[in-house]
Amino acid sequence: MTKRIEGSGIRVHKPKAWTMTDVHQRSDEVGECLIWRNAISDSGVPKASIGGRIFNVRNVVYELSGRNLRKGYVVRPTCGNPRCLACLTAISVSAMRKESMQRQLQSPLGLKMFQDRARLAGLSRIGPELAAEILASDEPTNVLAERHGVHRRSIERIRKRETWRAPRIASSVFNLAQTL
Ligand SMILES: [Zn+2]
Repeated sequence: MTKRIEGSGIRVHKPKAWTMTDVHQRSDEVGECLIWRNAISDSGVPKASIGGRIFNVRNVVYELSGRNLRKGYVVRPTCGNPRCLACLTAISVSAMRKESMQRQLQSPLGLKMFQDRARLAGLSRIGPELAAEILASDEPTNVLAERHGVHRRSIERIRKRETWRAPRIASSVFNLAQTL
């Protein structure tokens, strides 16, 4: 059963009824890999119905190997085969987001989308220090926009705390935008 160990930040995905034998019966060993033969989810994750509930088999195998999956972490294969249940590692959701952003930046279309988003958010030219200066200033929006060479909407968004409300997250995006 899926349940939480209260207060520990650990999620338990290990159905009581399953052992590694159940996993091996539904998989093929190919070299170092253990390839799931049965159903996969729409996003390509091996899944199984155990006791009337659907389980992510990666999580099941991860925990059957004696490891605990912490909150905010997902299990994925390091070998690149989505059906593999042998080469499993846990990665934090935030690290995965960062990876997918870096992947996006490697394609010209993805890069352009990112730049457009950053421009819309007023991140391409306005850093945390400048944002702080704008927040402290009582000059009119159009004066500030002209001086800093950004759209007045960018200044408005900063003043409404839409852009720089979460400085820690925003500055990591800004650092990326800086390198473009
Ligand atoms: Zn593998």
